Amino acid sequence: MAAASRLISRLALVTGGGSGIGRAVCQRFASEGASVVVADISEDSANETLGSLSHDLKGQAHMAAVVDVSSKQSLDKLVTSIQAHYFQPPSVCVNAAGITQDDFLLRMEEEQFDRVIQVNLKGSFLVTQAVAQALVACGAPKGSIITVGSIVGKVGNIGQANYASSKAGVEGLTRTAAKELSRFGIRCNCVLPGFILTPMTDKVPEKVITKMTSLVPMGRMGEPAEVADVCAFLASDDSRYVTGISIEVTGGLFIG
Ligand code: NAP
Repeated sequence: MAAASRLISRLALVTGGGSGIGRAVCQRFASEGASVVVADISEDSANETLGSLSHDLKGQAHMAAVVDVSSKQSLDKLVTSIQAHYFQPPSVCVNAAGITQDDFLLRMEEEQFDRVIQVNLKGSFLVTQAVAQALVACGAPKGSIITVGSIVGKVGNIGQANYASSKAGVEGLTRTAAKELSRFGIRCNCVLPGFILTPMTDKVPEKVITKMTSLVPMGRMGEPAEVADVCAFLASDDSRYVTGISIEVTGGLFIG
């Protein structure tokens, strides 16, 4: 449920904005008044999200951009183009780009492990660093960086040694970034979704989905918009004294 216009005059960068949770975050932020940079490895899906964004509130101007978050060069280019376009860096950033390459530990290839770490963990590091550097360089008074982890980073998951490691890693990254960047007014937090209905979970076999859903106390998978709602809270001043934390958005899955 959109709460008024908490993000008016904010510029928000959302990676993975072309699909699933990232797309819902872009839509929610736009509905609250932010100007949104939809960044994704796929130009078509970024443009599709761009076309779905509301722009009725004061001074809103959205853009789509292609980025590979695992490449420093690609990110530097993105941040430069954002600054050229808006004459400021984004003060809100959501790391939602992510991939899976599942296999059992005994069979997982080194390349499968490396690629998932490169996109999910190194990508979150590179984006966080690039945005924080730009904010500090221009003396911005505040920023909010949100990284989409996963409940799997806390509890592990069969077939996801690479993914669970990357998601555990982003929580350590976020807590460290929160400690280092607080003095610059930049807050860093994670959201940890459980099982959310997106193209990523479309790949999971029906049998596994049924089993997982039966473990969710709320009895259903989550909607991307339900993750986006929590991101909007973390992006806004409603969370101004909140940093270095992880909020689980799981319908109660694995609460113990
Ligand atoms: P999704 O629908 O697959 O969206 C991920 C987006 O990131 C896609 O548009 C993807 O593009 C893009 N992407 C992939 N590699 C990229 C790269 N190197 N640089 C830039 N963009 C890249 O998945 P989702 O479910 O919304 O996931 C969003 C985030 O939530 C991920 O970090 C995921 O790990 C996390 N998460 C999801 C769930 C869930 O149940 N869905 C649960 C916990 C955490 P392509 O489609 O072209 O690859």
